[in-house]
Amino acid sequence: MAPIIETVDLMKSFKAKKSKEEHMVLRGISIKIMPSNVVVIIGPSGSGKSTLLRCLNRMNEPTSGKIFFEGYDITDPSIDINLIRAQMNMVFQSFNLFMHLTARKNISLALRKVKRMNAEEADRNALEALRKVGLEDKADAFPGQLSGGQQQRVAIARALAMQPKVILFDEPTSALDPELIGEVLDVMMKLASEGMTMVVVTHEMGFAREMADWVFFMDEGLIAEQGPPEEIFVRPQNERTKLFLKRILKEVDAMDPLKPKYEVPGLAPEDSISPDGNR
Ligand code: ADP
Ligand code: MG
Repeated sequence: MAPIIETVDLMKSFKAKKSKEEHMVLRGISIKIMPSNVVVIIGPSGSGKSTLLRCLNRMNEPTSGKIFFEGYDITDPSIDINLIRAQMNMVFQSFNLFMHLTARKNISLALRKVKRMNAEEADRNALEALRKVGLEDKADAFPGQLSGGQQQRVAIARALAMQPKVILFDEPTSALDPELIGEVLDVMMKLASEGMTMVVVTHEMGFAREMADWVFFMDEGLIAEQGPPEEIFVRPQNERTKLFLKRILKEVDAMDPLKPKYEVPGLAPEDSISPDGNR
């Protein structure tokens, strides 16, 4: 099967302010993402995860390298990038909702602008998208009247309403109180089970272990290790991966010593990672 997204030697540098120096953030990323897969990107803060995600739909302009979406080179300047972004929609950590618009209007506005729907059609589609995330009854609520988890579900509904082929999630649960994380992960799991292609930057290791088809570990602008979750989480090869997992799993333990933040059904205790990163 052909990948839905492929990058070839993708590089991104930012110019430092007031100097001519370039800060290389992506240093040559070549990845393949298969259709209907859930792909999870993990890695330390500052390793370039968000930049990679934002380069995929060209919210950040890559400095060099190629991105193929369904076989088409979307770094080609003649491509209609708004069309690409509708097909590769992004969900952000901070929801990015308009606070002065109802849940329904947040979605229908995007549909009218991007999909050029009339008011009635946009409204109908917005309600349908809200139904998919279990928030039909909150259509007329403003974001300020909703919990963080509900706001993020509205943001997911907004992405869904575009009928994207891929949804990019940048730490979708990082801004949420722990008790609200589950409802957002549940919606994401439902999308995954319906075959949506998802690229997810997350620190939710339970979600990653259960849902990911493939895991990329990023470190200092490179893919340091990749593989199925059974390999990456149980038998990581790279020393940096081992160190990262050890640190992050310790953090999760520290938050709630008795219970993992998100239960992973069917995960046997012997699958857990010992302090040296091996079984
Ligand atoms: P991560 O998501 O893994 O934490 P990011 O992709 O956000 O990492 O950032 C990687 C590096 O790129 C950081 O050093 C960050 O400061 C830098 N960076 C990200 N966006 C910009 C930008 N718009 N301008 C300048 N530097 C940036
Ligand atoms: Mg980030």
